Amino acid sequence: RAKASLTTDVCFYEEEMDKAVRERRRLVQQLREALDQDQFSLNWQVQASAETGEVTGYEVLLRWIQPDGTFVSPAEFIPLAEESGLILPIGEWVLRKACAEAALWEAPYKIAVNLSPIQLGHVDLPRLVHQILMETGLAPHRLELEITETAMIADLDRTTHILRQLKLLGVSIAMDDFGTGYSSLSTLRAFPFDKIKLDRSFMSELDGGPQSAAIIRAVLALGESLDIPVLAEGVETLEQLSFLRDQGCDEVQGYLLGRPKPVADSQLQDEALTMWNGEKIVFIAEAA
Ligand code: C2E
Ligand code: MG
Ligand code: MG
Ligand code: MG
Repeated sequence: RAKASLTTDVCFYEEEMDKAVRERRRLVQQLREALDQDQFSLNWQVQASAETGEVTGYEVLLRWIQPDGTFVSPAEFIPLAEESGLILPIGEWVLRKACAEAALWEAPYKIAVNLSPIQLGHVDLPRLVHQILMETGLAPHRLELEITETAMIADLDRTTHILRQLKLLGVSIAMDDFGTGYSSLSTLRAFPFDKIKLDRSFMSELDGGPQSAAIIRAVLALGESLDIPVLAEGVETLEQLSFLRDQGCDEVQGYLLGRPKPVADSQLQDEALTMWNGEKIVFIAEAA
């Protein structure tokens, strides 16, 4: 009996695996069509100075809406795009589209574009970025490229060489999701990043205990001593914003300031604005 049930389990497992593999194949096929059929669009999420609330820039986030209206999260399709190699044409599309849009804005805000490690492994990247800047007329200092440390792990020498070439073009390089990987610190040593983006997991755990607060303080101190500005991701509450301001954090980004939107609008969300308009004192007094 035990044996029979084991066999059933194995069959069930194989069936599930099959299903998962087929589902993935289907998604890759759809992803392949998405670019040709114009199913991608860009969202913009505001970034601001923690001290003054002034808008400093926008992060570009890719959106995929299928013809039937289904929204697929980048957390789901970016890994698939990476495995299938489609990230190269998709990433190029994002870069070109983002630069072209931002070049038309009246206010010359900075834009931050996410790069996949696969794109970095591609030797032509500095040339591609240069070409897109020329084509779109975007001033190089307005472009910031975000990379995660996974990009650095594969081939450190090669990656830092490519990053240096990119910096020579006048663009800046931010380290994304700082603190989540295995070697965040040695990555910082390997290359002079222009910005550290502290991962939003530290923000969401801020209320959970003293550890996250201590880590955030330590990262801010690290940024200070390395002379690298720190941006905190995932700021959702006034309490978090207040804490970050008190600790001398440079920039903030998160739902409190604004959700990612199809159009970059320079209006911060009301709650955050209130904070910067000097009502912080009232807010703290109320809490006491
Ligand atoms: P990321 O680069 O760390 O981007 C920030 C993510 O956090 C975005 O998720 C954003 O919507 C979300 N977020 C922002 N503020 C808050 C907040 O206050 N609370 C919470 N809970 N979340 C917040 P999104 O748009 O789903 O993107 C997920 C990831 O997909 C990005 O993480 C990035 O790694 C990747 N991605 C997005 N667009 C691109 C792209 O064009 N190219 C590449 N290579 N990756 C991309
Ligand atoms: Mg990012
Ligand atoms: Mg991030
Ligand atoms: Mg992230």
